[in-house]
Amino acid sequence: MLNRFSKNILVSKFNIGKYFYIHIFKSLTLFLILMGTFESLEWLSRFLDETPGDLEVGGSSRQVPNACWSRVSPTLPPDPKLMLWSQEMASILHLDRPDGVILGGGEIIEGMDSYAQRYGGHQFGNWANQLGDGRAITLGEVKLDNEVLELQLKGSGITPYSRFADGKAVLRSSIREFLCSEAMHHLGVPTTRALSLVTTGEKVLRDMMYDGNPALETGAVVCRVAPSFIRFGSFQIHTIMQDYTTLKTLVEHTVRTHYPEHSVSSDTGIVKWLTHIAEQTAIMISHWMRVGFVHGVMNTDNMSIHGLTIDYGPYGWLEDYNPGWTPNTTDAATRRYRYGQQPKIGAWNLARLCESMVPLMDDPNLLHGALEAYTQSYGRLQNDMWAAKLGLGEFIDSDESLIVELNALLQEVETDMTIFFRLLCSIEEPEIDLLSDAFYDSENIPTELWNTWLDKWWTRVEGTPKRQEMINANPKYVLRNWMAQLAIDAAESGDFSICEELYLVLKNPYEEQVEFEEKWFQKRPEWARHRVGCSMLSCSS
Ligand code: AMP
Ligand code: MG
Repeated sequence: MLNRFSKNILVSKFNIGKYFYIHIFKSLTLFLILMGTFESLEWLSRFLDETPGDLEVGGSSRQVPNACWSRVSPTLPPDPKLMLWSQEMASILHLDRPDGVILGGGEIIEGMDSYAQRYGGHQFGNWANQLGDGRAITLGEVKLDNEVLELQLKGSGITPYSRFADGKAVLRSSIREFLCSEAMHHLGVPTTRALSLVTTGEKVLRDMMYDGNPALETGAVVCRVAPSFIRFGSFQIHTIMQDYTTLKTLVEHTVRTHYPEHSVSSDTGIVKWLTHIAEQTAIMISHWMRVGFVHGVMNTDNMSIHGLTIDYGPYGWLEDYNPGWTPNTTDAATRRYRYGQQPKIGAWNLARLCESMVPLMDDPNLLHGALEAYTQSYGRLQNDMWAAKLGLGEFIDSDESLIVELNALLQEVETDMTIFFRLLCSIEEPEIDLLSDAFYDSENIPTELWNTWLDKWWTRVEGTPKRQEMINANPKYVLRNWMAQLAIDAAESGDFSICEELYLVLKNPYEEQVEFEEKWFQKRPEWARHRVGCSMLSCSS
């Protein structure tokens, strides 16, 4: 049966010989586990068909001018084992859980055409030139009844964009991505999804805290899913390299494929499209703020064009309500990506995206409209978010002071964000003692200040806060760093039961689930205060 690869070989589109044949044959056995499953899918390759690519095939590290992608095959892992499987994601793809390790071997899946995407990015405020998928390889786009989803392996070997690195991922970061992206979905936060986690049977060397202590860690590959993995940096690279033809082609592809209701044939069309992206980005960040999520690395290469949370690295969840907190030790000096600054960084990143559209416009001044839309959308969403978290119903101007005072009070002493807001949903009188479980030091609660604020809130809601709205806005269960770390510690010794349990609990984050309360509706334990992986995470993954 001819597939896209073999068709390409027959028409000699690329200069590839016997080696490539064997390489494809071998590398596709990476999907030993998923193979039987993936055979049932209908594959498309719109991105490859409609945007310019690299004429060279394969993984050697290089600059790839004038291209949006490079064809590359995933590397064969020595001993792949399926460890985690998202049944929800699988159902969307109409896939059954593979029955253990399916050693299908070497078969080429009809229609699959794997590639790494080329993009650039501003990292921590500085332009970093070509980055690209250094260890992510897209298998292709899958056509479903009402949507098309891209499937991508993260950690499956080097690509032209791997630079000095190995193209691999370790178990700890793969568990964090698998669990968190699925948890975010169930929290109602726009996100890429995860389908599976496979351990590779290979050890990977990592200097986890970049402190000269490298160690061998278990390798893993996550299969993740999104409408596309196109990023702000996917456009920026062409503009900065002054390749406006490729920029235009990529913009037109993106709009045709993912924003068919838009047209970018005029300045106003481009601004409308960017305004849409600005609004989606504002929605995503307002959800992060609502649930206490800190992305940790909001570089423009980590900003999805769909407004999805993407690239789970050194992210974290606020426990103590500290807007200045970031889990990312790589960002410790300036804390650029701290919780409280995320909305502002969203605007900064959008400004870089808008800038990258300047060559396509007659009047680039119009781009300010998209940035203005972000500010206005975010402002509105922020008010709605606080109204929901506090059960206010409609937000009114005078609520502003209530919220400012609350933000200040939450920072007076160490206060657990998730527990505070969740307990607030059910208190029957404005009395801080009812919320004492939210405080890390129960001896030093500023009782009077709190009771004054609670009285003010209680008066505002006339003693009847909109409780269901509050419950829907204030999750009971989030993936606290120490929870993920407990799951990782067990998994590293072969026990994935905590991963499975967390996956289950986090599927219903707004439900009471009393059976899990004692274990997972808890403040950060003391052991986690200064533990690597809990309070400290780096970009090393
Ligand atoms: P991140 O900070 O994870 O968004 O990664 C920034 C860039 O580094 C992206 O281009 C990644 O693909 C690349 N990268 C990160 N880790 C690796 C790795 N182990 N091997 C190859 N490339 C990597
Ligand atoms: Mg990234």
